[in-house]
Amino acid sequence: MAETKRDYYEVLGVPKTATEAEIKSAYRKLAKKYHPDLNPGNAEAEQKFKEINEANSVLSDAEKRAKYDQYGHAAFDPSAGFGGGGGGFGGFDMGDIFSSFFGGGFGGGSTRRSNAPIDGDDILSRVTLTFEEAAFGVKREVSFKRIEACGDCHGSGAADGSSVESCPTCRGTGRITVQQRTMLGMMQTQQSCSACRGSGKQIKNPCKNCSGSGYVRLNKTLDVKIPAGIDDGQRIVLRGQGNAGRNGGMAGDLVIEVRVHEHSLFERNGSDLYCEIPITVCEAALGAEIEVPTLTGKIKHTIPEGTQTGTTFTVRGEGLPGVSSGRKGNLVFRVNVEIPRDLTQKQKELLEEFAKSCGESNNRKRTSFFKKFLNNLKGDGKKD
Ligand SMILES: [Zn+2]
Ligand SMILES: [Zn+2]
Repeated sequence: MAETKRDYYEVLGVPKTATEAEIKSAYRKLAKKYHPDLNPGNAEAEQKFKEINEANSVLSDAEKRAKYDQYGHAAFDPSAGFGGGGGGFGGFDMGDIFSSFFGGGFGGGSTRRSNAPIDGDDILSRVTLTFEEAAFGVKREVSFKRIEACGDCHGSGAADGSSVESCPTCRGTGRITVQQRTMLGMMQTQQSCSACRGSGKQIKNPCKNCSGSGYVRLNKTLDVKIPAGIDDGQRIVLRGQGNAGRNGGMAGDLVIEVRVHEHSLFERNGSDLYCEIPITVCEAALGAEIEVPTLTGKIKHTIPEGTQTGTTFTVRGEGLPGVSSGRKGNLVFRVNVEIPRDLTQKQKELLEEFAKSCGESNNRKRTSFFKKFLNNLKGDGKKD
């Protein structure tokens, strides 16, 4: 009964404040230690293993954990009237747990119980987009190879009209117990059944299309809508479009990783665009209406008289859309004042004349710099 049960946190050896990750890690360590496959014939380990799994099934589920924190074991005791919060602790599947430690994949593991549900693997595919395609969104054909249930036998592996039977060697369990005489005495180990390669099934008349495996690898092409504003390195996940699961397991996902080419003028940071624009000394000094490139063309923007090099200006809403919000970012441009080169004699004379006319207020920074400089030379500018 509920009263004799150990506290779930105590079972996993974690504090009540443990994070999800801490619980997961503690569970994995203990479950590996007490896994029946690693402790054959050890009843105590088996009991511990059950206890660990029960504790984990509650503490790893935020909703169940909250109930447990509030009501203790009573939360999952059907007689306490909380209406089926427990969900059957006896039903955990050792094969499933084991495969989660040692990796799924098809037909790889030899000790795993092969008729447990196995989720299909994810498939990673990459697409490369131009800067504009990423900015405005695009439809792309994505081609990839996918493992699917064989269409001829609907995944059974048996040819039309024949049936799948239980393997007589292992009686459908996929595993056999082997006794070996060793220096330490008789050892009992479990092995994958070689007659059925661990599947627990016997197919007398295998399907020709999939050679009895029930699965085929097919070339697939999907039209994928890539949302506007996607950035380099971001991924699009198409749930259930990955490899098929086995024994009722879920299909994996198709994960599309996006690469975006650089733009010749713009850099981006999130949904903001950045650009450097060279302007002339005259434009900077007199102020000007300059042309600013945007993703769709250009706009005019006024810069004021006396604009210094490196000054940034923000144009609202001319950035990229946010992938999920759709909200447009800004275009930020920075002006760089270009000093004219290759002056003619006439231009030089004009500039010299201009220079003679300049006073302190025309070059404020320079004036204040040289004031400080002179004070330093005299030795009385140290406090500044
Ligand atoms: Zn087939
Ligand atoms: Zn067998």
